Amino acid sequence: MCPQPSPEQIKDKVAAIRRRQPAYGEVVAWMGDLLGLSQQDPLPVPAPTPGPGPGFPEGRSLFIPAELPLDMERTRALLARLAAKAAARKGGREQAAGLERLLALPDQTLRPVLTAVLAGDLQAQEKTAQEQGLDPQVLNLFLRLALRPGLLALAQAACEGLDLTRWPAGHCPVCGGAPRLASLDGEGGHRRLHCSLCETVWPYPRRQCPFCENQESEDLVVLLPEGEEGFRLDLCRRCGLHLKTLDLRCLSGPVIPLLDDLATWHLDLAALKYFEENPRPVQGS
Ligand SMILES: [Zn+2]
Ligand SMILES: [Zn+2]
Repeated sequence: MCPQPSPEQIKDKVAAIRRRQPAYGEVVAWMGDLLGLSQQDPLPVPAPTPGPGPGFPEGRSLFIPAELPLDMERTRALLARLAAKAAARKGGREQAAGLERLLALPDQTLRPVLTAVLAGDLQAQEKTAQEQGLDPQVLNLFLRLALRPGLLALAQAACEGLDLTRWPAGHCPVCGGAPRLASLDGEGGHRRLHCSLCETVWPYPRRQCPFCENQESEDLVVLLPEGEEGFRLDLCRRCGLHLKTLDLRCLSGPVIPLLDDLATWHLDLAALKYFEENPRPVQGS
């Protein structure tokens, strides 16, 4: 399933988050505006045909993040619009100037930066951010937004005719990206994972870590944040990674990764705190 949220769904989600978590109000409204811009971009359907075909042999995704096809022209055009939006925001001039410096880079320099964002290469992103006088998180966010329409179009084209229930892995069947969010839905709460890059959604067993495939229940921890009905944290003590879960039986959907990830930032902090306070016993001791 490769859904794309409509502008109304983005608006409703922003309103729901603002009601539920007023502290995130301003930042989610801003993200909603930026997402609106990345929605308006006409979606090109990419030409390249996925390599391994619809059978997912050996759990290989159709693309790997570092080799995703990039439409430089469209990505640049959207980044320029996002930078203009940033410039118009109070206190956003400095961010916009950094983004404009990025835009001034030639394709052969900008392309590896985009690839670093897709491949989750934090070191390379930090290096460029420093060179261009940008906050690394701002660089990551704006480049993800600029890449988003192309990635969504790619996912939509790639998912056609694919049976994602046959995909066995914890990384995205289309782009190979990692999920940061999961949802529970339907009777019994079926789990789905949400790719944070191309937003593809696929089913995954509930009692298994998507990052290391661990199924040992003593290493799989579920935390239910107090006073936050519908949210849970799934932590794996084996690999030390976590997933933020939205229960769509009591929260309104759809999951919109960039918005829901932002509005659950405190759960990432809770996961870090849990791992700090409960270090994993050293193997063999
Ligand atoms: Zn993906
Ligand atoms: Zn794990």
